Amino acid sequence: MPKYIFITGGVVSSLGKGITSSSIGRLLKSHGFKINMIKCDPYLNVDAGTMSPFQHGEVFVTEDGAETDLDLGHYERFVDINTTADSNITAGKVYSSIIDKERKGAYLGQTVQVIPHLTNEIKERFIKASDGYDIVIVEIGGTVGDIESLPFLEAARQMRTNRNSNDIVYIHLTLVPYLSSSDELKTKPTQHSVMKLREIGIDPDIIVTRSEKPLDADLKRKIALFSSVPPEAIIEAHDVKNIYEVPSLLKRQGMDEQIMMLLRLRSNIYNSTEWDNFVKNIDMIDSLKKVRIVMAGKYVKLKDSYKSLNEALLHAAIENGVKLDIDYLDTEESKDVIDDKIKNSNGLIIPGGFGGRGIEGKIYSIKLAREQNIPFLGICLGMQCAAIEFARSVLGLKDANSIEFNTKTKNPVITLMENQKNVNKGGTMRLGNYPCTIKKNTLAYKIYGKTLIQERHRHRFEFNNNYIRVFEAKNMAISGFNRKDKLVEIIELKKHPFFIGVQFHPEFNSRPLSPHPLFVEFIKASVKRRENEI
Ligand code: GLN
Repeated sequence: MPKYIFITGGVVSSLGKGITSSSIGRLLKSHGFKINMIKCDPYLNVDAGTMSPFQHGEVFVTEDGAETDLDLGHYERFVDINTTADSNITAGKVYSSIIDKERKGAYLGQTVQVIPHLTNEIKERFIKASDGYDIVIVEIGGTVGDIESLPFLEAARQMRTNRNSNDIVYIHLTLVPYLSSSDELKTKPTQHSVMKLREIGIDPDIIVTRSEKPLDADLKRKIALFSSVPPEAIIEAHDVKNIYEVPSLLKRQGMDEQIMMLLRLRSNIYNSTEWDNFVKNIDMIDSLKKVRIVMAGKYVKLKDSYKSLNEALLHAAIENGVKLDIDYLDTEESKDVIDDKIKNSNGLIIPGGFGGRGIEGKIYSIKLAREQNIPFLGICLGMQCAAIEFARSVLGLKDANSIEFNTKTKNPVITLMENQKNVNKGGTMRLGNYPCTIKKNTLAYKIYGKTLIQERHRHRFEFNNNYIRVFEAKNMAISGFNRKDKLVEIIELKKHPFFIGVQFHPEFNSRPLSPHPLFVEFIKASVKRRENEI
């Protein structure tokens, strides 16, 4: 029987359950176990693709093209695994599957109910995800006590079929708030949240407390007493400066030993040297020279909207031994503001996005970077904007645009493929991994060092192939191309120190221990710019 770890949360949301789950995954991986990770999301959307990044942060895209919760990005980065669509179970997905089956007559004669039909559907997905793995870590979104998460918690409860099972561990994460007026950490909310969990039938084996300050032994004993777990199973996770420190914070308190004991697992290896070195390097970051990158996007006010991008830039900065200073630019600002920000930057990055708001400001900032030799990296929408800017300024096609923003333009340099036209919006996104062939003797080839790559996509519009010849004639090279579907993947300026736009999202493939080369080289070029070398 495969082993499962269920992670629930109490008191409030946004406690960092994703980071805790990922850190546990990292610890167990360092012990040599094969780990799979699942996120259960209690909302009724079938996937995260239709949700606003303003509310829910970034939509993470898996290799197989699922649009998922951003926690899957943490899982991939911490545990160094490639998740799939099966790693994100939403209430919308399970309900729609049940209703589908019901309509097809799969339950003829039965009353279809939350228990057992919905819970069975959820359990089947847990079991499917365990195939080929030693341990599956399941994070249950939401907070204990929410109506929506009940079916998931009930399914998790049912997984422990007998009281003496050594196959399941329940970990509950709660908040221990600090009251400044009395200078005290308070355990009452944790008591209540454990009671709530017990009402549902789950007895936690380990409790992780989130707090602003470290918990002392007395408080740990107190929480242990009322929640019937040994004091060594109370693990405290106080706020730390960087999230990549959390695995070692948990390790120091014996989280891995507790879990292995409960699951009756043994391991003679523990290898975390590379990870620990990475964390040490982040710790030194404040003593390093800064590199200032302007990030010009629509969702700059909520940093989680660009979670993977921020992490990818951090990985690359660490690799280059510099401190990252990201200057967010709202491109609806005036030209003066944009001028000023770009002038004071060492590099410009335009991330992916949808819709026309702020587009002209993005195009203007790219123009400045192009003309002033400032390193530029355009991602998805950023690449499309670079193509529009080039067509307008260099090719003289004044009305060049993407048909996403102007359906009537005479020069649709960014357009829909023929087979996408007249189809409903929902079904036309290019999602997940697609191959790209890279031309030799290009910046792209210098970056990747190979001619065939796979990168993840999430977009609807494409570079219009009718413009390839005129772009190339004026030194905007098409350096990456999807030969099978005949789609432009990478464009780059020949007479510029670093100017590259990619139709895909490289940020989803960057990992702390293997930073993505596009970001590493972009930061390297930006450092050169800072040193006045370009
Ligand atoms: N809005 C653009 C498209 O749909 C770009 C998408 C993106 O940047 N992810 O093609």
